[in-house]
Amino acid sequence: EKENILVSACLLGVNCRYDGGNGKQEGLIRLIDKYNFIPVCPEQLGGLGTPREPAEQQLVSGETGDLDIVRVVDRSGKDVTDSFFKGAEETLKLARLYGCKRAILKERSPSCGHGCIYDGTFSGTKVPGDGVTARLLEENGILVSGESNIET
Ligand code: SF4
Repeated sequence: EKENILVSACLLGVNCRYDGGNGKQEGLIRLIDKYNFIPVCPEQLGGLGTPREPAEQQLVSGETGDLDIVRVVDRSGKDVTDSFFKGAEETLKLARLYGCKRAILKERSPSCGHGCIYDGTFSGTKVPGDGVTARLLEENGILVSGESNIET
C-alpha cells in the first residue's frame, strides 16, 4: 500500500499559480510510482481564481518573539485573509480524508511556504515564517517539507 502524500499542485505541473503558471518539479514527479500524491492548491480551494494577484502575509512580532500573521493582502491591497484561511481548512480536511502524514509544499508561498516567506511589503524581502496552510497542517501533526528537500 502506497503512502498518501499531500503535494502542492503547482509542483506537479498544474497551472494553479497566481500568474497562471506552475512550478513543475521533475524530481518529484519521478517519485510518482512510490507514493500516491494528493494534489492540492489551497488558494484555489479557498475560492481564489487563477490567474490572481500575488498575495503576501503581513506579520507582527508575537509575544514569544515569533512572527504572528495579522492578515493576508494581495498586491492591490485587497484583504484576502478569509480565502487563505478557508483554503487552509479545506486542505486540512483533504489531508485527513486521505490519511496524509506528510506534505510536500511549494516554498516561500504565502499558503504553502515552510520556514521562509515574504514579509508583506511586496519587495522580495524574505522572513522566517510559514504559509497559512503549512502552519495549519503542522499544527495538526502533518510533517511539511519544501520541494528542495525532496531527496531526503
Ligand atoms: Fe502552488 Fe500552493 Fe500557490 Fe496553489 S497555493 S499555486 S499549490 S504554492
